[in-house]
Amino acid sequence: MFDVIIAGCGPTGALLAAELRLHDVRVLVLEKETEPVSFVRIVGLHIRSIELMAMRGLLDRILEHGRKRPAGGFFAAIDKPVPEGLDSAHTYLLGIPQPVIVRLLEEHAVRLGAQVRRGCAVAGFEQDDDGVTVELADGEQLRSRYLVGCDGARSTVRKLLGVGFPGEPARTETLMGEMEVGVPREEIAAKVAEVRETHQRFWLRPFGEEVYSVLVPAAGVSDRAEPPTIEDFRQQLRVITGTDFGVHSPRWLSRFGDATRLAERYRVGRVLLAGDAAHIHPPIGGQGLNLGVQDAFNLGWKLAAQVRGWAPEPLLDTYQAERHPVAEDVLDNTRAQTELLSTEPGPQAVRRLLTELMDFDEVNRHLIEKITAIGIRYDFGAGPDLLGRRLRDIGLKQGHLYDRLHRGRGLVLDRTERLTVEGWSDRVDLIADPTAALDVPAVLLRPDGHVAWIGEHQQDLDDHLSRWFGLP
Ligand SMILES: Cc1cc2nc3c(=O)[nH]c(=O)nc-3n(C[C@H](O)[C@H](O)[C@H](O)COP(=O)(O)OP(=O)(O)OC[C@H]3O[C@@H](n4cnc5c(N)ncnc54)[C@H](O)[C@@H]3O)c2cc1C
Repeated sequence: MFDVIIAGCGPTGALLAAELRLHDVRVLVLEKETEPVSFVRIVGLHIRSIELMAMRGLLDRILEHGRKRPAGGFFAAIDKPVPEGLDSAHTYLLGIPQPVIVRLLEEHAVRLGAQVRRGCAVAGFEQDDDGVTVELADGEQLRSRYLVGCDGARSTVRKLLGVGFPGEPARTETLMGEMEVGVPREEIAAKVAEVRETHQRFWLRPFGEEVYSVLVPAAGVSDRAEPPTIEDFRQQLRVITGTDFGVHSPRWLSRFGDATRLAERYRVGRVLLAGDAAHIHPPIGGQGLNLGVQDAFNLGWKLAAQVRGWAPEPLLDTYQAERHPVAEDVLDNTRAQTELLSTEPGPQAVRRLLTELMDFDEVNRHLIEKITAIGIRYDFGAGPDLLGRRLRDIGLKQGHLYDRLHRGRGLVLDRTERLTVEGWSDRVDLIADPTAALDVPAVLLRPDGHVAWIGEHQQDLDDHLSRWFGLP
């Protein structure tokens, strides 16, 4: 008997497993692939995800494998600088291949005590009042109290749950891969520059000594899961550029579409959905993985509270209430970006206009805060603007705030030195620090770093501790 079974060990499933282990929840991750995928999507961690890694003490390890790049210029690839004074200690994009992120997150989860079983596909399940019986493809049955589908865009869990996945089907498909080329670099650079003036969905970029990363529109839309061939690339390169650059010796080849869909519900009883299983959209702006790990960060402590028995009644439902609107917003911004990448005259005119508007700092800032997810404000009721937002990593008398969040517990940061968390000290920490760089007397932070209360009175704090962390 496990507390939680997670279907899928992608970035979402691996991080969720780790978050649950911080609270001693017995977790099993079932992954259908026998080996970790080597498929290198060029993935960037945006500011909020980088902050999450810092909050769990993972950032140094991740930085060793990534390359810092400017955080600006992501919205529809409109080239603008990062606005001054973004509210974060980590105002960069971290370029890091997806397999490396997955490996680091899986290692983190295992180090914390999660079990990962590879070569095990979830094929069915049944839930009752006490738990979920999960059936594997080979007929083995396992039992847990909760099941979370982190099994990607074609999620078996979502389909079996019967949850609707409305949205738009793919209108375009793009081929992406890494391969060698048969013509000199200078020739490629000149041709690429020329073609990119009219085609945004195209590149040939050197990636290491001999290898090029290639992106080119596919001939049409297929719903095939299997990868394209090198001949598909040659043909499409000829159509778009007039030459196939002599591409050969592929390292890997893949395709992706621009379907946009959002699950109608994130929870049905004891079964929940997170990551691509709950939402898909085109990769413009590089937000999918970020959105998934942020789902996991939101869900982990709430599900742990439910398992450990101290969750206030509606806590688990706040997962959908908070994360569904965030995904809706990401889907919308990728729809908008897709239009802005069109080569039609109308969208091109809108793109030129937006490019001008982004010279206004506020417009540029708004779009960057959206893509990097530092602009998110959950609806915790009426209150100051900080309520519901995440708090940046601020300096403390000793060290930094995020260093004190590694254990995934709640935290009261108290400049008044009068408050206590007595009754909740098994799940909430207290830092009394009159020097903390805060312009309010005290805040209550949830384990995901969002501000759940601002004030100075003990009774008021106790009410909010009960609201988020259950009865003392
Ligand atoms: C070309 C491209 C570029 C991208 N670039 C970015 C980027 O820069 N930034 C960004 O944030 N996102 C990017 N994305 C999106 C990102 O790759 C996905 O959003 C991300 O992989 C979602 O993570 P996940 O863990 O939810 O799902 P997945 O990564 O799909 O993982 C799901 C896992 O579940 C397993 N599984 C499936 N079915 C079962 C089953 N029945 N039982 C057990 N296991 C199962 C799968 O094998 C897989 O390991 C890009 C995507 C593409 C295609």
